[in-house]
Amino acid sequence: MRPRTTENIKPEASNASHWSTIKTLGIYLWPQGRRDLKIRVLIALLFLATAKILNVYVPFMLKNAIDQLTIQNSPLVLPLAIIFSYGLARILVQAFGEIRDLVFAKVGQHAQRTIALNTFKHLHNLSLEFHLSRQTGGLSRVIERGTRGIQFVLNFMTFNILPTLLEIILVTGILLYHFNYLYAAVVFATISIYIFITLVITEWRLKYRQQMNSEESLANTRAIDSLLNYETVKYFGNEQHEYHRFDRSLAGYEQAAVKSQTSLSLLNTSQSFIIGLGLITIMIMAGQGVVQGQLTVGDFVLVNSFLIQLYLPLNFLGFVYREIKNSLVDMDKMFELTKVQASVADDPKASTLVIDLKNGGGVVEFNNVSFTYDGTRPILKNVSFSVSPGKTLAIVGPSGAGKSTIARLLFRFYDVTQGNISIDQKDIRSVTQKSLRACIGVVPQDTVLFNDSIGYNIKYGNPDLKDKDMVAAAQLANIHEFVEKLPLTYDTPVGERGLKLSGGEKQRVAIARTILKNPQILLFDEATSALDSHNEKEIQASLKVVSKNRTTLIIAHRLSTVIEADEIIVLKDGSVVERGRHQDLLSLQGLYSTMWQKQQQDKDKFQV
Ligand code: ATP
Repeated sequence: MRPRTTENIKPEASNASHWSTIKTLGIYLWPQGRRDLKIRVLIALLFLATAKILNVYVPFMLKNAIDQLTIQNSPLVLPLAIIFSYGLARILVQAFGEIRDLVFAKVGQHAQRTIALNTFKHLHNLSLEFHLSRQTGGLSRVIERGTRGIQFVLNFMTFNILPTLLEIILVTGILLYHFNYLYAAVVFATISIYIFITLVITEWRLKYRQQMNSEESLANTRAIDSLLNYETVKYFGNEQHEYHRFDRSLAGYEQAAVKSQTSLSLLNTSQSFIIGLGLITIMIMAGQGVVQGQLTVGDFVLVNSFLIQLYLPLNFLGFVYREIKNSLVDMDKMFELTKVQASVADDPKASTLVIDLKNGGGVVEFNNVSFTYDGTRPILKNVSFSVSPGKTLAIVGPSGAGKSTIARLLFRFYDVTQGNISIDQKDIRSVTQKSLRACIGVVPQDTVLFNDSIGYNIKYGNPDLKDKDMVAAAQLANIHEFVEKLPLTYDTPVGERGLKLSGGEKQRVAIARTILKNPQILLFDEATSALDSHNEKEIQASLKVVSKNRTTLIIAHRLSTVIEADEIIVLKDGSVVERGRHQDLLSLQGLYSTMWQKQQQDKDKFQV
């Protein structure tokens, strides 16, 4: 097997990759060239710090109010100013938090949008090989979960973990300053044990979450694959088989989810126990201080308020840490995707291919091309041919001989293993893939359409053109009459992957959109195989008009469609075994002639 490491994704994420994920996210949060967003980040941080400092000051106001109210033998004066300041401070803490979120929202949303778009772009830039080896259902889950993860990390890491840590430091400092080191030590010890236990148990139970993820992806992939193959399932009556397959993944998910929940309960119980213990200890200490007259009632309430203020977010910190870890795993997987390198990449010095059609440009040449997909099984062996503009080359041969592979190589979905392919003497590896592909129009063997209208699918060939061009192309492709008879005409939806159209109709839509693309080189891979002979003849006539002055390659099973080709090459097991025009090949009495006779007999049989 040829190693496919360049396009593989690591199954598990490590701490190192978490850091690189956080760093990557950081770059998006501090975007180059976006001063407005950077200013927003700074303002948000300012509001964050102000709110926290104010928050830590609030319990002091409460203490002062209580002390004033409880001082014995003093004239009872309502400390109105303190009570108002206390209320105002609470309102401001809340308001600053809201302003911070409001200002930061644009930064976070912008980062999320840019990351999602970059991942999508990257996936489109990866090679066919990658997309053939990946399951689309699983891939879309990775992106969906990764994007959700970004949202979570942004919301909680930036504005919960960091502020909570800041608050812990401030409160510990105050306790140390206002009371004695024992208070600070108890709080510090409680927090340390709490964080330690949280990290240890969370690390241990993270594997269940990963299991849940992979089982969920598998179940999703299986469900999508099964539903896409709805017809095949019915042909073989394999519904039960499909149910069992899907249920196996669901059962795997169920088991992992139950384990995850059990371990979560263990974590929550441990956390409550530690908090409870810390709370009891420090309250006893403060209570004793009041009894012994060293502390006021206000101090007792102050310690209590601090603890509650600290423990609330700390309790939340456990949940946030768990979720952030999970989100990081999801984001790692998504960022891993963006690090996958395309196996077919543009040369840094690649030029733009421009075919000068007026001066006889568009000569396609295969020079001793050999190719293997997996490094072991040779698919093409020393294939050479040349096609000039205005000429048609037909490629025929038994199934699996490598015909469609020739098309994929010309389109540069793969790079040749040996030899070279050139257009107008330029090696196709020396030009950009974009410019190469712009010059080639492909009507593939299996046409897959977008789940949109017929009009949308035809216009896909060149979305800038007008409706009248679309109709002209549809007429050439012999589909206009059919479309006009539909109640919604060109607005008729084609269904998932175009399954609401017949094979022949889909092929005609594919031909129409290629006509609209108007490329200099045309490649028809069994483009008319799904048509009946009447329709095929009409389209052949249209294709002849379209291919005038253009370079045309036709891959065909039905030899009757290539009789007029300027050259026919016969492929067998990846080698060209015969070549020439139809009559020459018949007189050779070789493979072509045998195939021709066989097809003629089948046709006669069919007509009888
Ligand atoms: P048909 O007439 O049936 O369409 P073909 O002549 O067009 O056949 P190709 O599609 O070129 O044949 O395939 C040639 C061989 O390469 C086949 O044996 C096929 O199994 C193999 N093949 C095709 N695509 C891949 C791939 N991505 N990875 C590995 N092998 C592949």
